This record gives sequence, C-alpha cells and structure tokens, in this order.
Amino acid sequence: MTTTQTNLDNNNAGSTPLLDGVICPNCFASISIGDIQSTQACQNCEWRYEEIEGIPLLLSSDDKSDSFFQDYFQNYEQISLDDLGHSIQPTQYLQIMSERFTSYVLNFVGQDISQLNVCELGVGQGHFFNKMAKLNPRLLVGVDISIPYLKQFKPAPNTQLVIANAENVPFKNQFDLLVASDILEHVINVGDFLYSTNRSLRKNGAFVVKVPFNEDINQYSRLAGCPYRFVHLRSFTEQSLRKVLESAGFKVEKILYDGFLDYRLKPFMAKRAKLKKLFRQWLQFRYQDDVIQVATINRHIGKLLMEPIEIVACCRKMDDVL
Ligand SMILES: [Zn+2]
Repeated sequence: MTTTQTNLDNNNAGSTPLLDGVICPNCFASISIGDIQSTQACQNCEWRYEEIEGIPLLLSSDDKSDSFFQDYFQNYEQISLDDLGHSIQPTQYLQIMSERFTSYVLNFVGQDISQLNVCELGVGQGHFFNKMAKLNPRLLVGVDISIPYLKQFKPAPNTQLVIANAENVPFKNQFDLLVASDILEHVINVGDFLYSTNRSLRKNGAFVVKVPFNEDINQYSRLAGCPYRFVHLRSFTEQSLRKVLESAGFKVEKILYDGFLDYRLKPFMAKRAKLKKLFRQWLQFRYQDDVIQVATINRHIGKLLMEPIEIVACCRKMDDVL
C-alpha cells in the first residue's frame, strides 16, 4: 500500500474537533487529533499516522503488513473500481433500497439527528451516507477500506472520512448511531467486527445492521464464475443474526425484512403452478419491472408471499464487551 504523509488540516479540519473518540489501531490508547497532527504517531506505541490522498489511514500495523489482509484489501479495491465503473447492482434498486433503509434507521433513532454522532461502516457508493449528510448530524464519519469509494466524496462540514478495517473500528464511545449495511457478510472475523463496533458506540447507542437473508452463497464460488476471491462469506437467518448480536453486547429491539423478488417465492406459492402464474401476472401488471417490484412492494405482503432478500436488525448497545 503506497501512502503519503500529509496534514489533517487539508482534510476538512472544521470537523476534526468533534472527533474525540479516536483510538490507536494498534494499542487502543486514546489519540488526540491535535497530537497526531504534530507528532504523526501514537504516544503509547510504535504506530505511525499516515494519510492516503488526504484521508486518515487508521489501520493497525498488522493489517498494513499482513499479506492476507493485503489480498483482502486489494480484492475490495478491485470490487470498488468495478462497481464505480459499472454498478454491480442496478443503481435504481440501490437508491430505492437505501431510501427505505434510511426510513428504518430514522424510525428507530428519531427523525432529528442533528445532535447525534453518526458513523457508517462501509460507505460503498454512498447512497445512505449522502442521505445522512443532508440531515446534518453533529458528526458524520464514513469508514471504508476501499479508497476509490472514499475518494468520490467531497469534504463537507462535520463530515470525516476514514480508511479503516471494520474488524478493528478505531473509535471508543464515540457514536450515538452506527450503521453497517451489507458489511457483516463480508468481514473475515465476525466477532472482531461486532466487538469493535460495540467499543465504538456509546452506551445505549443505536446499531442498525443489514445483511442478506438466508442467501445461497455458492453463487460466490469462483468455480461458478465469480471473479472475486472474497465476496459474501456467510449468510444469516433471524436466529443466527440475533445470536451474534446479543453475545456482542447488543439488544435487538426490532427486526425488519426487505427486498423481494418473485424468484424467491414461499414454498406454498412455488409448488402451485396456477397460483404462481397468477401472482406473476399481477406483479407484472402492478409493478412493471423487477427493480420497482422489489423496491416498492409492501414489506408485509412481500414477506407473506416471498422469501426476503435482506434482514435488518435495529439494536442498542447494552454493555461494553471489551
Ligand atoms: Zn498505539
């Protein structure tokens, strides 16, 4: 990884005083942003502060030197470049799904987020992140390991972008709301991700996590044509998602299902040819094409007839687990 050392002043300095919960990715000691700017290093260990293209690089020394993680980061750099060149999922689908997801988040934490410190882990194309920025939270932090994704955002007031590993989120007691949409199925170590997520939230802070529901992950086999080494590494049901969240110090307060397509019909529908045909005719008449159908069908009707594509868990941090 090629890095250049610059000064945080170049990167949206107006927002940095709000970022008071940064910790060293190596030793987890608190880091003063002021100290980083002058010393470029942790005061407690050997870790050196760097930036890439003006964006703080908060990766541990192990992550920076470990060849496995280098492969993992390169894999996601390639995915982000491919995705920005030609969106892997239809843009219209992503936009409408992120609108729905935003409404789930705001229904959970309240419509006014002006007093909240908010973080999105894995900003990707930024559909959700840009919506949050318009709502003007007290602080908005965007984390990703893919620099091409982060580079597309213009610095905005009270917004900070950070290159960091979601399995070692470099914050402590910093956020009132943390969101991870389609991230948990990608990380190598689920416990590392959830424990460091827990650490970065304040007590009673909200964690909203979305993952594919009961997905057939064989589709990510390279033997079946998948071009990437790492994509989705696991799939979740409500039970398995609740289990890992609860054992990482979260209370699951709400579960939502979303995203429906007629190729994922419930067994009672799939088995009855006539019913299936009628349903598909109605979908075609009512929703014209698949993207709109998936994005706009009522969640309750969708769940009655089809297997959902996504599951969303709205949680609160109960206890510190680290
Ligand atoms: Zn340190």
